[in-house]
Amino acid sequence: MTRPVPAIVILGNGSLATARRIQQVYPDALIHGLAERVDGADHVYREFGSTLRELYQQGTPIIALCAAGIVIRTLAPLLLEKGAEPPVLAVAEDGSAVVPLLGGLGGVNVMAREIAAALDVSAAITTSGELRFGTCLLNPPSGYVLGDLELGKRFVSDLLAGETVRIEGSAPWLAQAQLPEDAQARLAVHVGHAERTPQANELLIYPRSVVVAVSGAVSDLSNAIRQALHQAAIAVQSLACLLAPDTEMTHPALRETARELGVPLRFAKAETDMGELARNAVGQPVSILGDDAIAIAVADNPLDPLLIGRPRGRLAVIGLGPGAAELMVPAVKSELARANDVLGYETYVRMAGPFRADQVLHCTDNREEMQRARHAFELAAQGRSVVVVSSGDPGVFAMAAAVLEALHESTDVHWHNVDLEILPGVSASLATAAQAGAPLGHDFCVLSLSDNLKPWAIIEKRLDLAAQADLALAFYNPISRSRPWQLGQALEIVARHRGPETPVVLGRDIGRPGQTLRVTTLGLLTPDQVDMRTMVLIGSSLTCVFPRADGGEWVYTPRWYGEKPAS
Ligand code: SAH
Repeated sequence: MTRPVPAIVILGNGSLATARRIQQVYPDALIHGLAERVDGADHVYREFGSTLRELYQQGTPIIALCAAGIVIRTLAPLLLEKGAEPPVLAVAEDGSAVVPLLGGLGGVNVMAREIAAALDVSAAITTSGELRFGTCLLNPPSGYVLGDLELGKRFVSDLLAGETVRIEGSAPWLAQAQLPEDAQARLAVHVGHAERTPQANELLIYPRSVVVAVSGAVSDLSNAIRQALHQAAIAVQSLACLLAPDTEMTHPALRETARELGVPLRFAKAETDMGELARNAVGQPVSILGDDAIAIAVADNPLDPLLIGRPRGRLAVIGLGPGAAELMVPAVKSELARANDVLGYETYVRMAGPFRADQVLHCTDNREEMQRARHAFELAAQGRSVVVVSSGDPGVFAMAAAVLEALHESTDVHWHNVDLEILPGVSASLATAAQAGAPLGHDFCVLSLSDNLKPWAIIEKRLDLAAQADLALAFYNPISRSRPWQLGQALEIVARHRGPETPVVLGRDIGRPGQTLRVTTLGLLTPDQVDMRTMVLIGSSLTCVFPRADGGEWVYTPRWYGEKPAS
């Protein structure tokens, strides 16, 4: 069963050697190095505090090669918030000390021991129970779940006070712990899938050894499952996953119920009998309880949901924003983290990185959009988690429409079953406008000047009408080597309706290294000032410009039109 991949964060070149040794323990982990201080990191960050907090909030285990105090101060504002607490460790930059700081229940001590072993030092473990017994009873390995944390804490403090303990049920990992076992002990660790009210002297640990196979058509699904488990005297905590027929992949009740029960949802080849469905999908001996509609399959040992049936495939079309990581929405970052496959134009795929070794990149030429969209569905239909990358917003002259067109044309039910989502980004016109002030502060019109996929005549007509309507204009794809004359013609059309003093903003590579922003006028604008990496914003008759204190200029279009209202 998989654990989340940690991030190794370093502040200077002095830590790189130690970071690489730690990376050998976690080969998929990336080394995040501070810009201009670290050469040869896998990923470059600019701001330590925001980077660390973001990783923490995403639940990424953090191995920071710096003073423990820095890490504590940086994460302190987040510690009072509720939510998952990933493991956080501070490691001395020379590898001489490994200090687990947070995430006791997320396995931080296990990681501390693993890292310490690789660095040939001992981990600074401070958890009493763990020191005494060599394992954290409250943090069973994956495949097992603790019944109740508060009862568990009391149980461990009784043990620490010198009591002995009995172990009931099968718990292979506990055999390696140095527990003070005694068959007559008052305290007992009970491992099993049965529903049970814990006695005062009992620590309950549930193996995730149960699968419920169900159709989404069952009414009041979540309650029906809880009731079926209760009737079979099986603890809901023992549920490893929910299993459903693959003909019901899009059923909202299944997804909702799996989320509510906190278990993965998997699908297997449809059978009328749910018991049969479960037996085939689990692939090891199970006893089947329940009834025709809700079958409960119970195995002897914990089950790995990743090996049962398959998940519903997912396809997300994401917008990276203009380029800078700070301008990428958090939902896009998490989507990239969960992706198995990433498709897109090579430049954008590279911008979306860094990626882990287990993520597959499919880089293609910029013009192969429909082929890329179909390839994305083929991968997602296999149950993979697929991301198609666009710059800016995916719905603005980019991949979202191509993906939907491919789906619309397809009769393949597997494609239509994919969990498809479009995640927005900051489009180039908006990123450029924000840097200039608010040139699009009133009604505006967005046009692509590319006549690759539409006739030039329609572009001329739209330009003419938009300019006539006194809309501010945003030009995407303004010019390219194969389209050298179009921009000049477009500017002529605009000039029929707008004066030479009309403000113009040119944003080039906005949000990317070497970005430039120019404020000029329609009269002074010539096509040679523009290339395919430029955004052209043309003001309306009311757009105005005034100096900034720092020497530049602010451009804005007022919110009103006609006469300025009294304020
Ligand atoms: N989906 C993208 C647009 C793709 S069309 C978005 O929403 O931004 C490509 C055109 O967008 C380029 O020719 C250029 O005009 C503009 N563009 C994209 N990124 C840009 C950036 N970082 N700075 C300036 N213009 C950009």
